[in-house]
Amino acid sequence: MVEGRKKSRTFRRVKVKTPGGKTVTQYKRRKPSKAKCADCKAVLKGVTRALPKKMQNTPKTKKRPARAYAGVLCTKCTRKKITQKARQ
Ligand SMILES: [Zn+2]
Repeated sequence: MVEGRKKSRTFRRVKVKTPGGKTVTQYKRRKPSKAKCADCKAVLKGVTRALPKKMQNTPKTKKRPARAYAGVLCTKCTRKKITQKARQ
């Protein structure tokens, strides 16, 4: 019987073939959910979706676009925000 925490679907099941030829089920963490726009909740493009450990070694430029409000707002909302700020 597997551990209690492994019975839930928090972990995804990956079948891996060992050097000995056996097929073993490994329990791995699921990827985090996709980044969404803070304003309209649209899925953000160009934002990396990986586990924290992998994100540590990912360059900053690959994590999100190099633009104002990148990783927070979508392009449409960014344009709106910038024009709003200019008109103030
Ligand atoms: Zn938006």
